[in-house]
Amino acid sequence: MPAKHAAIVGAGIAGLTAALALARRGISSEIFEQAPELTEVGAGLQISPNASRILAELGVLARLTDAWLEPDSIQLISGTSLRRLAAVPAGSFARARWGAPYGVLHRSTLQQTLLDAVANEPLCQMHLGAQIKGRPTQTYLRPDRKWIFGTGSSRIYYYKYFEPADGVMVDVHVYELEPNTFRLQRHVFAERARWEPALNAWIFQDGWWRDFKNGTESAFTPFKGQTSTFAEMKEPPSYFLKEVKQDKQMNFEEAWQHLNCQGKLDPFRIS
Ligand SMILES: Cc1cc2nc3c(=O)[nH]c(=O)nc-3n(C[C@H](O)[C@H](O)[C@H](O)COP(=O)(O)OP(=O)(O)OC[C@H]3O[C@@H](n4cnc5c(N)ncnc54)[C@H](O)[C@@H]3O)c2cc1C
Repeated sequence: MPAKHAAIVGAGIAGLTAALALARRGISSEIFEQAPELTEVGAGLQISPNASRILAELGVLARLTDAWLEPDSIQLISGTSLRRLAAVPAGSFARARWGAPYGVLHRSTLQQTLLDAVANEPLCQMHLGAQIKGRPTQTYLRPDRKWIFGTGSSRIYYYKYFEPADGVMVDVHVYELEPNTFRLQRHVFAERARWEPALNAWIFQDGWWRDFKNGTESAFTPFKGQTSTFAEMKEPPSYFLKEVKQDKQMNFEEAWQHLNCQGKLDPFRIS
């Protein structure tokens, strides 16, 4: 049955755009934003033609083009010598080549324009000061990637998609590090990995692993069309749902505990 109603967490650029896009398809939405009010946050943004085309379809582009700067070209300049390294034509070229403009503006201008459009859309309902709590934070610094430390912090998992209910990861990499030097010992890749509770192990499918000695690759073992398991990788699907706080989110006690658990630093010596 097609969805009729959606909940959106966050009234940033993505949340507001998603609400408008859903409304165009007749799907109503409620947006839950933790901030009590949306004020000017962020810096300059460039909007490339692939994005401006969508903003045009959502009926907000005309207001943006009144406020933004549409440069004739994008110049890549060396930070040390100020020499021009490269240039890409924009302006009328972008409109002719990609059928949509390229422009630069402040993030808050885009957010406010989207916000006004959402306010005028009866299918969208905004809730400010509404924080969604208790969901695990999975990402470290890059929200588009999922880097997770395994137990003991000498194993790092990276996956593109993760479906905890089925215990499946897609495009998964596992990096085994030497615990003292953090040198890469083994890199495992698989197109898919499935948790097998009976074996208490991940079954990796269609992939390879590379072993390293003193920083140089010593063996390459492909398993295309086959599966492989690694006894040491015992982190079950639930492990990847645990909350991992970023350093800025920790209070003093949590930060101290974190450093102690890592066993790498003595907090008393940090001045
Ligand atoms: C320095 C810098 C330059 C950039 N330049 C460009 C650029 O030139 N062009 C470009 O396209 N992109 C650029 N980006 C990226 C762009 O800013 C982001 O991709 C975009 O803002 C992400 O939008 P978002 O809605 O996903 O997240 P955000 O804009 O961060 O919004 C997330 C919202 O969710 C709310 N929220 C979070 N957690 C909860 C919760 N639990 N409950 C309720 N609400 C919650 C937050 O309060 C926030 O309002 C840049 C980013 C940076 C940092």
